[in-house]
Amino acid sequence: MTSQPKPPAVEVRNLCKNYGSVQALKNVDLTIEAGEYFVLLGPSGGGKTTLLRTIGGFHKATSGDVLLNGRDVGHLPPDQRSTTMVFQAYALFPHMTVLANVGYGLTVAGLPKAQVAEKSAAMLDMVGLTGFADRKPHELSGGQQQRVQLARAMVLDRDILLLDEPLAALDAQLRKDMCLELKHLQEKVGITFIHVTHNQEEAMTVADRIALVAEGELVEHGRARDIYRAPERRFTASFVGENNLLTGHVSDVNGVSCTVDVAGAQLQVPKRGKEVSGGQCVDLSIRSELVGLSRASDANAGMDGHSILGSYDESVYLGLTTSHLVRLPNGTEMISRSISDQLDDLPEPGEPVRLHWLPEAIRLHVN
Ligand code: ADP
Ligand code: MG
Repeated sequence: MTSQPKPPAVEVRNLCKNYGSVQALKNVDLTIEAGEYFVLLGPSGGGKTTLLRTIGGFHKATSGDVLLNGRDVGHLPPDQRSTTMVFQAYALFPHMTVLANVGYGLTVAGLPKAQVAEKSAAMLDMVGLTGFADRKPHELSGGQQQRVQLARAMVLDRDILLLDEPLAALDAQLRKDMCLELKHLQEKVGITFIHVTHNQEEAMTVADRIALVAEGELVEHGRARDIYRAPERRFTASFVGENNLLTGHVSDVNGVSCTVDVAGAQLQVPKRGKEVSGGQCVDLSIRSELVGLSRASDANAGMDGHSILGSYDESVYLGLTTSHLVRLPNGTEMISRSISDQLDDLPEPGEPVRLHWLPEAIRLHVN
């Protein structure tokens, strides 16, 4: 017997969701494989929560389909789907013990007491809270409470976990720690996690794949490092990493690359399959850590790549790295970011400087 390939955990097809006249989701198509850690990333108000809640059955789609494990679930309520939602730490029942909180869903489902206790205790082990079963939620830290919420969702044995800004209530250090814990937990249990966040570092830490969601649309999706290193869309470049965004005009099209005039500099830019024509206005992006900085008088700088002249504005010391702000003749501000220790004497404000980079570091966006 040959085993059937596993259907995707989630397939969203042509999904639209309106709230009155607000189009919160516009024709979203998305496939999430079983066992993936998938992140929906984007600015507030973009439609992430709406998408997650429509997958979970808390919202009814205006049109389009949601399939879970290959099955159309559009007509099913949340408790009859293979999804379960992780709520914020403060949503625990304060009067119940940790163990009772974890077992609550199983108790409601009518499972025998002994089984509820056994499964709940096993799940507390899984999230690293062995020995905390008899405490009340207020006797736990914020991070521990969040782990109880995870246990409470996972004990239900559904195979898709939905997490809406699960770390938002935690302070910065705890958020970092919990991020890694979530990643490791998902690897351990092997079920599908769909995690909503507006925080790119959080997204990069946990995700196998990331989808950018903004203005009700799925802008772009891919592996975390591809989204970071090779953003297709201008929006992605503006939201992920620290990208310099430049606008220019195509002055020549020549085979696999084109020449773009940016503030008087003629930049040879790889087209990477995009169609452009002479005179067209295009956007370019380049990550700040790929932009080098030299004094304008240094004739050797940028000889083997692109270079553009500007005037030094200021430096921002960030500890590990320092950002150098440089103003181009057209008024655009660019950032060159380098490891702080690599710097000796900084240019003076107003001093002419040269920014330079390798041609393959720059990306063309036509949308
Ligand atoms: P995100 O989670 O990315 O911040 P949401 O999905 O919460 O975005 O919201 C998407 C859009 O839908 C926003 O414009 C928001 O104001 C609107 N919206 C969300 N929920 C409702 C609702 N219950 N009624 C009306 N509009 C809503
Ligand atoms: Mg939201």
